[in-house]
Amino acid sequence: MTSALRKARSSAVVVATATAAMVGLAGGAGAQTTDDTPSRAAVVNSATAATPRAAAAAAVDYATWQRDVRKVIDEARPYVEQRIAGAGGQKQAIVLDIDNTSLETHFQLFPPTPAVAPVLDLARYAHDRGVGVFFITARPDVLEQVTRGNLVHVGYPVTGLYQRRLDELFGDTAEYKTAKRVDIEAKGYTIIANIGNNTSDLVGGHADRTFKLPDYDGQLS
Ligand SMILES: [Mg+2]
Repeated sequence: MTSALRKARSSAVVVATATAAMVGLAGGAGAQTTDDTPSRAAVVNSATAATPRAAAAAAVDYATWQRDVRKVIDEARPYVEQRIAGAGGQKQAIVLDIDNTSLETHFQLFPPTPAVAPVLDLARYAHDRGVGVFFITARPDVLEQVTRGNLVHVGYPVTGLYQRRLDELFGDTAEYKTAKRVDIEAKGYTIIANIGNNTSDLVGGHADRTFKLPDYDGQLS
């Protein structure tokens, strides 16, 4: 798939997400989501069953992706636990990318997009222990309500959410994301972990440690 096609597809996903979410998510944004694993599994299974390999999302195998994500978060988890245990009054934060890091965007075209389970578990674990959970996404801020609604609907704690303003849409993504981490630090937080699936989520510093989820050479936005 060419870069242009990938971008077009990615935009289509976001637009589909926005449109359907506006219709269906508004009532559910405040819903209790103690454990939506069965519905998440059902959604993914039905998506898999309904979309043959020829479908766009089938280029990357879901089970392989899940396994690869789990491997990275299995490394992140003990590190985050250790940092929290040794916080000593430090105001800590973790930073998460959204698409294909926090939400299964590539594999679920229609909202609410399910959470990436091990990332959700980690975010909840950290937040329950006083760590700020910040999301920095390249999604435009016109989708702020939809994005926030989706995150909350699937159970994420949201301490802060950064989306690109109009004047930021055409700039360098890595620079934009770095600037937002600087902003989080300016609020007094130490960013103990920055988790994303694209290099542009992670370069630029302003995080004690980065964790790279798979993007399979840019196939996953
Ligand atoms: Mg991403």
